[in-house]
Amino acid sequence: MKLARLELLGFKSFPQRTDIRFDGGITGIVGPNGSGKSNIADAVRWVLGEQNARMLRGARMDDVIFAGTQKRRALPWCEVSLVFDNADGALKTPFSEVMVTRKAWRSGESEYMLNRKNCRLKDIAELFYDTGVGGGGYSIIGQGQIDVFLSGRGEERRDALEEAAGISALRTRKEEATRKLDRAQEQLERAGDLLRELEAMLGPLEKQSEAAREYLRLAERLKQVDANVYLVRHERLTRRVGTLTASAEALREALRGHAEEL
Ligand code: ATP
Repeated sequence: MKLARLELLGFKSFPQRTDIRFDGGITGIVGPNGSGKSNIADAVRWVLGEQNARMLRGARMDDVIFAGTQKRRALPWCEVSLVFDNADGALKTPFSEVMVTRKAWRSGESEYMLNRKNCRLKDIAELFYDTGVGGGGYSIIGQGQIDVFLSGRGEERRDALEEAAGISALRTRKEEATRKLDRAQEQLERAGDLLRELEAMLGPLEKQSEAAREYLRLAERLKQVDANVYLVRHERLTRRVGTLTASAEALREALRGHAEEL
């Protein structure tokens, strides 16, 4: 993987589009004091996601946008693209050239792109894991930072060495996994609480369900008994109608006899 190009537009002292090509070998940038040499290193750091204005030698994040001069108006946004030659496939992407772009507006909005397609800063960070390229990497050392590296806190030195040794990605993944594990543990505890609550409700619910089953059984039995009662009553009434019809007939017969006698 090689650094191929840096494109600046509206970044710090570069209001007009400036392309810097890094051909083979070593590239040196020379110029008088204050001509913007370090701004180029800042641009590299910024496009790779730097979030700390102090690391970019500014007070606020919008200090990276061209602030204007007596002859030129300030710009509302800036854009930096860093292009890598990935012919050796060191970056895990199918592209042989990888362009990382960051764009920012004074309003505070900011946008990242990989090969001109919008992406998250996380995607860029993941692409460069363990390559030494990145905000916390050892490959971009700004003015005065060598001192910090040599005499800085053990922790800072350790971070830089870990990045160089290629284990920072594993460490980040481990931290992520630990976080996920903690979250899973919390969820498990919450599920346990819920289970206990539900178990406490189980006894009364079982009783209620038993009562409901008994009610249904009795209602069914009642229906059968009701039907039987109607049947029996119907039979009895039919028989009584038969008897009464017979005696009515006998009476009518007797009546006819008596009428004849009379
Ligand atoms: P030295 O050799 O002294 O370290 P240098 O060549 O590295 O200097 P830089 O520090 O990169 O120079 O650039 C400083 C210049 O950039 C200053 O002239 C400053 O006014 C200009 N500059 C920084 N930020 C902005 C900005 N937002 N808008 C316009 N100009 C800016």
